[in-house]
Amino acid sequence: MSSPRIEVDIDKIRHNTRTIVERLDVRGIRVTAVTKAVCGHPAIAQAILDGGVAGLAEARLSNVKRLRQAGLTCPVTLIRTPMLSQVDDVVQVCEASYNTERVVIAALATAARRHNTVHGIILMVEMGDQREGIMPNDLEEIAQHVVDMPGVSLKGIGANFACLNGIAPTVAKMRALSLIANDIEVQCGTFLQTVSGGNSANLPWALGWRPAGRINELRLGEAILLGVNPVTGDQISGLFGDAFTLVAEVVETEAPPATLFSSCADPALARIRLVHDSSEMTRILLAIGYQDTDAAGLRLPLGDELIGATSDHLVIGTKNEALCVGSEMQFQMNYSALMRAMAAPDVQTNLCHDQPAQNAHDTQEPSKHLTLV
Ligand SMILES: *Cc1c(COP(=O)(O)O)cnc(C)c1O
Repeated sequence: MSSPRIEVDIDKIRHNTRTIVERLDVRGIRVTAVTKAVCGHPAIAQAILDGGVAGLAEARLSNVKRLRQAGLTCPVTLIRTPMLSQVDDVVQVCEASYNTERVVIAALATAARRHNTVHGIILMVEMGDQREGIMPNDLEEIAQHVVDMPGVSLKGIGANFACLNGIAPTVAKMRALSLIANDIEVQCGTFLQTVSGGNSANLPWALGWRPAGRINELRLGEAILLGVNPVTGDQISGLFGDAFTLVAEVVETEAPPATLFSSCADPALARIRLVHDSSEMTRILLAIGYQDTDAAGLRLPLGDELIGATSDHLVIGTKNEALCVGSEMQFQMNYSALMRAMAAPDVQTNLCHDQPAQNAHDTQEPSKHLTLV
């Protein structure tokens, strides 16, 4: 089998999705799955759809086109504000998009009329993360503008937390978003079908005991794919954290010690410093580097140490004597490492358990009776 490669356990992704969908369903919250970290990989998207999500969301139009070309017909929402230069494609391949700019909404409306369709608009409200969004005070005017504009329809509002500034969603912020939804409905005389509460960082809130209020959707990527709470980095109980495994090949063992490289002038080639010099460790070189993944986001086998990485190599200290030239090493990835590996042209994607097997997730289920904390 060729390497580097990502091995994707489709069953585990289906299980993670189904588990989260069921837990949120009792709270009146539906799941829109975000596939940007897997570049809109159609088989992975299909597994997520089989897990019961309401629809998919993507940040990039190229990924949406990949989904469509594979024959997926589910609703797809563009979660990155559309580029003005792409509005014609957006209205043709996406049912709706998240928006913050009047000029973009107007262009989407014109494009939608040109293509004889109506494009859904979800307005992003700035609730403190300061990445994207309309200030709450300006929202009513823009919402009214969307309601009055032919070619677009106001589908809802949404917020984003813990992205740019790591501002975690609080109970107060979520209540504020609910109140904003109520206000907009009264002021604009329209019903908001979607009140999108945020991303995986919102899961602890969503699965808590407090009323979900008007929030009826979360957009989830990391929690489904990696089973992780992005704010704490903790594994979510009952979910698989190893649906994705990165495999790389050893090309050299006993590479020269780090001190030989200490005069390396290019900081990009020396981003990760030597952890500590341990003489009983064997240094091995793997044929994978920054061009393929985020080296700092790899979880190494217990006892192994990441010594350094360059564009094309990973240097690892190991006590595992079985590792020789030609053998393979496996890593779990964090979100950043996964995203880059999925997008890297030299990293293959291999699917396993790619058949919907109704019983498979029962037998493999890690912990049936645990609840998310
Ligand atoms: C990436 C993204 C998400 C998904 O975030 P996860 O942490 O992967 O759940 C949700 N909403 C927006 C706007 C995003 O850009």
